Amino acid sequence: MIPLTLAEIAAITGGSLVNAFGSETVTGGVEYDSRKVGPGGLFVAFAGEKADGHDFGPQVVAAGAAGVLGTRDAGVPGVVVQDQLEVLAKLAHEVLGRLPELTVVGLTGSSGKTTTKDYIGQLLSRLGPAVAPAGSLNNELGFPYTVLQADEKTRFLVLEMGARGIGHIRYLTGIARPSIGVVLNVGAAHLGEFGSVEGTALAKGELVEALPATGVAVLNADDPLVSAMASRTVARVLLTGEADGAGLRAEDVVVDATGRASYVLTDGVDRGNVRLGVAGRHQVANTLAAAAVALTAGMAFDEVVTALGEVGIVSGRRMDVFERADGVTVVDDSYNANPSSTAAALHALAAMGAGRRTTAVLGYMAELGEHEVSGHAEVGRLAAELGVDRLIAVAENARPILDGAAEVGGWRGTARFAADQAAAIEILQNDLRADDVVLVKGSRYRTWDVADWLRRSEE
Ligand code: ATP
Ligand code: MG
Repeated sequence: MIPLTLAEIAAITGGSLVNAFGSETVTGGVEYDSRKVGPGGLFVAFAGEKADGHDFGPQVVAAGAAGVLGTRDAGVPGVVVQDQLEVLAKLAHEVLGRLPELTVVGLTGSSGKTTTKDYIGQLLSRLGPAVAPAGSLNNELGFPYTVLQADEKTRFLVLEMGARGIGHIRYLTGIARPSIGVVLNVGAAHLGEFGSVEGTALAKGELVEALPATGVAVLNADDPLVSAMASRTVARVLLTGEADGAGLRAEDVVVDATGRASYVLTDGVDRGNVRLGVAGRHQVANTLAAAAVALTAGMAFDEVVTALGEVGIVSGRRMDVFERADGVTVVDDSYNANPSSTAAALHALAAMGAGRRTTAVLGYMAELGEHEVSGHAEVGRLAAELGVDRLIAVAENARPILDGAAEVGGWRGTARFAADQAAAIEILQNDLRADDVVLVKGSRYRTWDVADWLRRSEE
């Protein structure tokens, strides 16, 4: 963060100074995890269910923190406010106002935000200091937290924006207004029946509505609900995709047996061969979006082509492919799951499984609402259609996956139900072969143990 005194922070946030002269200066970062606060840092204390952050005030100040921002006096220099999230937003907005040279990139979409944010951060870092922290910091806490990592040296700020409803992205763009906005995709459009995709499109489109006329909207030409957002922005529109109308296109896409895609990147004038190091055909769309941002920010076409071949996913459990000593290939995509990201992962598994035995360990997909049963069934159908050899559904509410697979005539694979992760591990343990490719996917922690077991048990 830029240096601010506690008095300035109190003024910006409308809070009260406690135990402080006001001249104490925050020169380090803003953190809400007491263990991360460094010298000169500002600790934002929350009263959680298990622990009250305010209790750690004396400890963080003794370790060099400049002060504590919280809802009560922590007994050390600080600022007392009514609502931490509200004031973090104010602080973030103020800090950005003092960094007019900064280019702010915002991105949203149903799947691939964090992945693409990692790519954009890596590309832009070649042009200058970029803030694009690992992880999924896309809500009313993570978003201002990310903004507050910017300082006078920062040239690019890359912000993931999550939308759980109408107005959410508008709120975030009110904190930090991007000049480059990326919309990756909306819902599980290609799987048809999932989610209220129009509602999602309405919410995600708030990003392009916030862009200034001098800005650029990077929109996925291959997702009709996204390309339609062109009419909702005054910014210049740059369409990316494989469709003919895209200004930045991927041509001749080929996925090899390691699941990695190659394509020809072209803007209609320049052309270059891109070979991705990350698995999954869906990385074509993600890397095209990242390329569009880099080109918009001024990177030379040839450098973009080279850099795309070197990008990786730094945020964990997303298409993390590793080989075990026994020859088994594991795709740990267990960070999160919805029908469209599961479809993407299943396609990657199928590509990587040519001539090998494929196993999909699929856990429960949360947050599908009324589409819960149909969403799971659709994923099961796709797995069977793609010829997955072994399908393991983990937990009771993932059972419709197996029902969906059973509907596919001619599928020769086996379907197994595992009541919990331990049961899934047992199934794998009893039958793993050197030619196996195993995909592990589920919402949040629901299949992490399986992925971790596959990682640990390789020796
Ligand atoms: P969240 O909403 O949880 O923050 P996110 O949008 O940030 O998710 P990622 O964390 O990047 O998305 O990826 C989540 C899952 O979606 C991963 O399993 C990843 O492999 C998959 N995925 C990434 N990009 C795409 C894409 N373009 N289309 C479909 N699935 C994708
Ligand atoms: Mg994310």
